[in-house]
Amino acid sequence: MKYNRILLKLSGEALMGQQQYGIDAERLMQYASEIKSVQATGVQVAVVIGGGNIYRGVQAEAFGLDRVQGDYMGMLATVINSMALQSALEKLEVSTRLLSGLTIQRVCEPYIRRRAVRHLEKGRVVIFGAGIGSPYFTTDSAASLRAIEIEADVVLKGTRVDGIYTADPEKDPTATRYPEITFDEVLSKNLNVMDMTAFTLCKENNLPIIVFDMNTPGNLERLLNGEPMGTLVSMGGTGAGRDGRKPLHEPAQSPLLPLVGNQPEQA
Ligand code: UDP
Repeated sequence: MKYNRILLKLSGEALMGQQQYGIDAERLMQYASEIKSVQATGVQVAVVIGGGNIYRGVQAEAFGLDRVQGDYMGMLATVINSMALQSALEKLEVSTRLLSGLTIQRVCEPYIRRRAVRHLEKGRVVIFGAGIGSPYFTTDSAASLRAIEIEADVVLKGTRVDGIYTADPEKDPTATRYPEITFDEVLSKNLNVMDMTAFTLCKENNLPIIVFDMNTPGNLERLLNGEPMGTLVSMGGTGAGRDGRKPLHEPAQSPLLPLVGNQPEQA
């Protein structure tokens, strides 16, 4: 395995499977068993799941409703999906914790970075619900931010397309897939990988992204076993990218102040 700790981003829309809305049980169980397989190999797995299969903030605006209210509704949609994934994982006897960016005490823990890391170290799959807990963001931004915070080695963005293409492969049959591309090339070619906030967070923190097809069973494990797949977005060149990423907490260079370890820990 190339990675010790991954952040897997799943879109809410993919959870619909063939349905028009909501959660397809078969797709949900497929995702859970894929996660179980990689977790069983010792990789620490954190997951962010979107909410597009239930609600997106922009929909509220389209109906003339308040955007911010809509965004909070979207965040709650991600909690519903996260709870479904948690349940599916538990059905497969995988130990999980759901940490939410919004406080919903009865069903999930609040997001506390140190607690998230501790859960991962104990071999639990950590699901981050409610995005970052603020409107005007997306779950892609939550995936990038949480990945940086927990010092994940990579963001794996599971989509229905098997990587980043020169053009939309569903419209242009001559489009070809990039096996690897740099952050700068993505920007100069105006390719759509993530929203700009999410993408910039990864770029500025040298956090590689791999876009891959999550809907083909077994792909996640094959990817982590080093099979060439999808598109790797990295700084490129020597010393950069997935293996060359500098630890965020290198004392002399870290822009972060050390945290005081005073948060209560939940066993
Ligand atoms: N959202 C938000 N802040 C966040 C994460 C999500 O406001 O930090 C809202 C936003 O309205 C978004 C919705 O939750 O449209 C669902 O998330 P997203 O669209 O990213 O889901 P996906 O497209 O991955 O299914």
